[in-house]
Amino acid sequence: TYDHMLEIRKRNVAPTLLMVYKKPLLLHQGHMQWLFDYEGRRYLDLFAGIATVSVGHCHPKVTAAAQAQLARLWHTSSIYMHPPIQEYAEKLASLLPDPLKVVFLTNSGSEANDLAVFLARLYTRNFDIICFRGAYHGGSPYMLGVTSVGYYKHGVANGFGCATTMLPDVFRGPWGGSHCRDSPVQTVRKCSCSEGVCHAKDQYIEQFKETLNTSVPKTIAGFIVEPIQGVNGTVQYPKGFLKEAFQLVRERGGLCISDEVQTGFARTGSHFWGFQSHDVLPDIVTMAKGIGNGFPMAAVVTTKEIASALAQNLHINTFGGNAVACVVGAAVLDAIEEDGLQQNSEEVGTYMLLELAKLREKFEIVGDVRGKGLMIGIEMVTNKGSRHPLPDEEISQIWEDCKDMGILLGRGGLFRQTFRIKPPMCITRKDVDFAVEVFRTALERHVE
Ligand code: PMP
Repeated sequence: TYDHMLEIRKRNVAPTLLMVYKKPLLLHQGHMQWLFDYEGRRYLDLFAGIATVSVGHCHPKVTAAAQAQLARLWHTSSIYMHPPIQEYAEKLASLLPDPLKVVFLTNSGSEANDLAVFLARLYTRNFDIICFRGAYHGGSPYMLGVTSVGYYKHGVANGFGCATTMLPDVFRGPWGGSHCRDSPVQTVRKCSCSEGVCHAKDQYIEQFKETLNTSVPKTIAGFIVEPIQGVNGTVQYPKGFLKEAFQLVRERGGLCISDEVQTGFARTGSHFWGFQSHDVLPDIVTMAKGIGNGFPMAAVVTTKEIASALAQNLHINTFGGNAVACVVGAAVLDAIEEDGLQQNSEEVGTYMLLELAKLREKFEIVGDVRGKGLMIGIEMVTNKGSRHPLPDEEISQIWEDCKDMGILLGRGGLFRQTFRIKPPMCITRKDVDFAVEVFRTALERHVE
């Protein structure tokens, strides 16, 4: 049946990224951090359906909650009340600081970000949106204007659909290790932060100001940012940069949007939301992926005042607030708390970062190991001096070898040169030992 499945896939399913391996995986079952193929092979899932399966594949409590709701009521659209909408909105809002208390439920990250940008434009009555090069905010026509990595290479983004200002290359940050950052792992090249001056941050701020000044007539609607860039390969900003950036945006009348699609729901360990590590308070927060552990749902949370810009039914969607989705979302929040997943993300993530950093010391092609909690990037280079991305075929070979030995990794970055690790947050230290050993073996084979 494998060959048959592959034939149908090639014929009737749109060609997407998902045919990633030379012999694409045909998966059958998932249980917590594990995936199983049809031949009974088991894989430690370090990518979690693109950072989405947050609490574990088929987590028993989440599955049970969904099943119970499926037998009761599926859908009414948000035009009527049913308890799951109110209960979920209240629960989600309780996890965000004041005054972020109004929840819009949507279906995907792109849709959540579309709505956030729409809100910022409506509320401020300005138009320009500032974003980072290397950002990924979604694939909708609206979001293509602010997404670069993934689409940029194909010349689709940048000015497609909306007037967007892109920042200069420095923000693409292909080498996240070149500045100090909020990570348990030391950077390869230290900046002089330890002496109280961060030149990297100053450079970023200069560039940021330049970009803000290109906005005509120097007023902006908003600034959208991932607290850690995900698709771009776990790219972190210099310490203190976002706080200053938020101030500059607000001075020009703009709103600050934190895209928590990857960094939210305890992924970064130390905090529930990524923005909290930067000591900032956004005006709008968007979330998807981990929110539903794989169930399609997403949300935008903002203040009552900003939300009122959408009064008079300016925004409607059919599926947002679906009863099953709301119940799943609530069960995911319970699981994060009951299973201690934020703490696990912090502890196991830090352990993994430190273990991987040892491989960086040992192997010239491991250019950088970075991240926070269970959001980790391993950047592959030809050598640490040149920082050129390791050629694609070589990275692919390491990647395939890891898969054959039972480890599924993600890839990201403009040249797909960074391995991305974002497992279900129930992963254990023992799993990390296994994963690091497999990765070490794959690297050893490569350098032999
Ligand atoms: N924002 C970020 C940070 C993302 O990583 C993604 C998806 N990779 C999106 C938005 C878009 O989400 P979706 O694919 O659910 O539309």
